[in-house]
Amino acid sequence: MKGSSRKAASEGDEPEGLKGTVRIILFGPPGSGKGTQAESLCAEWGLPKISTGEILRDAIRIGSPTGAQARDFVDRGELVPDGLMTRIVEERLSQKDCAAGFVLDGFPRTIAQAETLEVFLRDRGDRIDAVASLRVEEEELVRRMADRGRDDDSEAVIRNRLEVYRRETEPLVLYFRECEKLIEIDGMGRAEDITERIRSAVADVRGMDASVARAKISDPRNEQCE
Ligand code: AMP
Repeated sequence: MKGSSRKAASEGDEPEGLKGTVRIILFGPPGSGKGTQAESLCAEWGLPKISTGEILRDAIRIGSPTGAQARDFVDRGELVPDGLMTRIVEERLSQKDCAAGFVLDGFPRTIAQAETLEVFLRDRGDRIDAVASLRVEEEELVRRMADRGRDDDSEAVIRNRLEVYRRETEPLVLYFRECEKLIEIDGMGRAEDITERIRSAVADVRGMDASVARAKISDPRNEQCE
């Protein structure tokens, strides 16, 4: 499909290539390109991009109370406490523009965050459709982070963020796999090629929705997964 033939959805206008709502999580280590991919997919699908890192950086820049609470954690490459993150995301997801779906970039990052998100969505009769997990080699992650030169991208902080990822966030892969939501994406190579991989994987998942739902209903092990 050509870029020029895509258009962002406006009111009453369904995103091209998508039917109904789509709620996607972009998952992966720092530097894996989640933000870049979220940006492209949201522009294409006409969906809001919920990037928790960006929300926090904005809050820190304007000196809001949220920014003051988060600042030290972000500067050190540590995770901001779950309670604060969950409040931020639930507030954002409650806004009207998220009704037709959204792309989450950088959330959830802990099992507790994933569980709270699941309950929050379930209470509204919603659920996550798919988790696209970007796989990128460690050397490439470090190179990408060093290139972008953000304040929290000094060498020591980059190393800490990768460690925090392995310890606290990577276990989520198993959580999502159990819920049959995980789509593994090769995150190496050109950004456009990676976007295409995500696009077609998400289209596949959505095409399979009905049969997946039937399999889940007949399998009692999947009861806890929405
Ligand atoms: P990112 O832009 O996604 O790399 O996030 C930048 C920083 O914001 C991280 O290193 C964390 O300090 C913080 N952060 C972003 N999202 C979360 C989250 N879901 N949970 C905890 N901390 C987060």
